[in-house]
Amino acid sequence: MAEVQIIQEEEKQLIQRAYRQLLRSIKSEMDEEDQRNIRLAYEMAVDAHSKQRRKSGEPYILHPIEVARICAEEIGLGPTAIVCALLHDVVEDTDVTLDEIDEKFGARISRIVDGLTKLDGSYNKDNSQAENFKKVLSTLVDDVRVVLIKMADRLHNMRTLGSMPRHKQLKIAAETSYIYAPLAHRLGLHAIKTEFQDICFKITEPEAHAELSRKLQETRRERTRYINEFIRPLTKKLDEIGVPYRIFGRPKAISSVWNKIKFKLVTFEEIYDLFAVRIVVDVESIREKAACWHVYSVVTDVYKPIPERLKDWITTPKSNGYESLHTTVIGPKGRFVEVQIRTERMDEIAERGFAAHWKYKGVRNQTDVYETWLEGIRELLENPNSDALEFISDFKTNLFNEEVYVYTPKGDMKVLPKGATALDFAFSIHSDIGYHCTGVKVNNRLVPMSYELKNGDQISVVTNRNQKPSEGWLKWVVTGKAKSKIRSSMKEERRQQGQIGREHLERKLRNMKVDFEPAVEFLVKHYGFSSHIDFYFAIATESFDLRAELKQFVVEAGRLHLPAPETKPAPAEEPASPVIRPQKNFTGKTRLLVGGEPADQYNYSFASCCNPLPGDDIFAFLSQNAGLKIHRTSCPNAVHLMANYGYRIMKAEWVSSPDSTFVADLKITGIDDGPGIIERLTHEISTKLGVNIRSFNIHGDEGYFEGKISLFIANTDQLNMAIRTLKNLRNVSTVTRIE
Ligand code: MN
Repeated sequence: MAEVQIIQEEEKQLIQRAYRQLLRSIKSEMDEEDQRNIRLAYEMAVDAHSKQRRKSGEPYILHPIEVARICAEEIGLGPTAIVCALLHDVVEDTDVTLDEIDEKFGARISRIVDGLTKLDGSYNKDNSQAENFKKVLSTLVDDVRVVLIKMADRLHNMRTLGSMPRHKQLKIAAETSYIYAPLAHRLGLHAIKTEFQDICFKITEPEAHAELSRKLQETRRERTRYINEFIRPLTKKLDEIGVPYRIFGRPKAISSVWNKIKFKLVTFEEIYDLFAVRIVVDVESIREKAACWHVYSVVTDVYKPIPERLKDWITTPKSNGYESLHTTVIGPKGRFVEVQIRTERMDEIAERGFAAHWKYKGVRNQTDVYETWLEGIRELLENPNSDALEFISDFKTNLFNEEVYVYTPKGDMKVLPKGATALDFAFSIHSDIGYHCTGVKVNNRLVPMSYELKNGDQISVVTNRNQKPSEGWLKWVVTGKAKSKIRSSMKEERRQQGQIGREHLERKLRNMKVDFEPAVEFLVKHYGFSSHIDFYFAIATESFDLRAELKQFVVEAGRLHLPAPETKPAPAEEPASPVIRPQKNFTGKTRLLVGGEPADQYNYSFASCCNPLPGDDIFAFLSQNAGLKIHRTSCPNAVHLMANYGYRIMKAEWVSSPDSTFVADLKITGIDDGPGIIERLTHEISTKLGVNIRSFNIHGDEGYFEGKISLFIANTDQLNMAIRTLKNLRNVSTVTRIE
């Protein structure tokens, strides 16, 4: 009993300490009411969460306190947001109601808390993540603070992910990299975006992460020495300018180093620009631009610049508000070093984005970048036709991207998202111009409608009244506006065609003396059409053979019936993945577990997009009609699946043993040194390694060969061994596993 009391006492102190730390972190000015509200919110949250614990075992209240601290200290939000952060989980998880919050704190705070509650992924389990994301964005246009607090919530959850089971970690990471990291980027929350990406990298590819952090650690002193050497000759000259400044080296985030290695196919040793040097000057607003260019001239007096790497985001800031002057110069030992030049104000905006942006509102005379952006989101949200998944993909292409600036024939400037096409431009002028667009001229030359716009293009659209959109147009546009216009035009077209199908059906049923309404309901359901219009359309276009199909029913009292129950067609079985599946001799001790249970009790198969093997990191996905699909966590589809259908993800794992086999495909390339190559490869594989070959084909051309070899493999260790052995063969240049 006494022990319990001691623990309770300790926890009480822990909570109070966290709260005091929160109070210290608040930088903004507070009046008495603000202070009272924060205290009140704290007490309400402590009381409401008193019975709850986090997965780690800690008292739950530590979470909202920490979220509030992140809001104050790391995002720079004020007292209202702090109150809301403290209360962000009470309505969802406890007995406290929104009305109570309204009563105590007023309408503004209760509205934000309401937004946060609705936002929570677990709030409505029937909704897909996509629906929830759509909600994130509707609340964003209401009050941006909702999303900023949500970011802080997500950040704290990411930081404390360690106590979650692995499949949950993967799901949360996927969601984060799918929507929260890009959103953080778009809101200019640079530090948070980077941390999101770093944690996601650590979760999804733990081994690569460990290896890379080790290498970064090992080379850190070397790099620090180099930076110091680089900075030394600069400081003397910068002192002479007579403005306060800071100069320092900034290591690149581990996830961005990894992206370079992965996508630019370079080795760690080849990446020289692992750091950038930043110079931040402290000057009053009217001297900002001049001061930055002054610093630029000092830097380029000392080091030779690479002219094409100069980027001036001071004159034209990025669409997320980022301002800075970047140049790359050739430093000691001929290495490229990126130098970022900016003022203290710009630096704060670059690190903290939106929140800092508000603070400096009106300092610079430019159109409000966020206003334009939020306006774009509102426009997307107002489109009643878009379903949630379409919405997310439109949103990702339209509002996370940066812009391209183009001109009408009269010289008016139009801003479109980067990647927008000539046809997008037509729709951006007017829907009618889009509908009737037959051709587009860019700088007076005819281009395909899918032409990707470039900055400075001058564009004119050729129209014809008889032109109308078709399905294929959807591939030529990226903007949400053009897509939804094309879709609704297609829908209208379908509806009109469907009318013909409907009339046809009506005649047919009348002749058969069948009542129309119930028969349609029955047929739509029986054939699995998703709507009446789809059904009518299929009849009109004759992709549904009405005459033949109706023959199989009998008519009784004006209704259609199936003649006998057994004629009902069995549901089509999805063919098992052709590339890989357990062989018939799957007798051994290698077991696949799903949700901790043997997988045999489920209807499962292996996804052909990533061909998982024993030993691979995997998860199970409950597909719509093909049972469980097993994917690798590194599968290109994984992020999409986990982010949008998190509720269908199940944990899956291997319990290994060498007795069962799987098929793995390898691609081999090399120098063709005449006949005998096939013998050499097969000998190596089957005789020396004892691995059975399922199929092998090879073709050569001008001294080069490329082959595909399918092997029966027991596990990833054996596969890696085979790859290594083949690689070491004379004249073999590459051996890669085909995903
Ligand atoms: Mn929370």
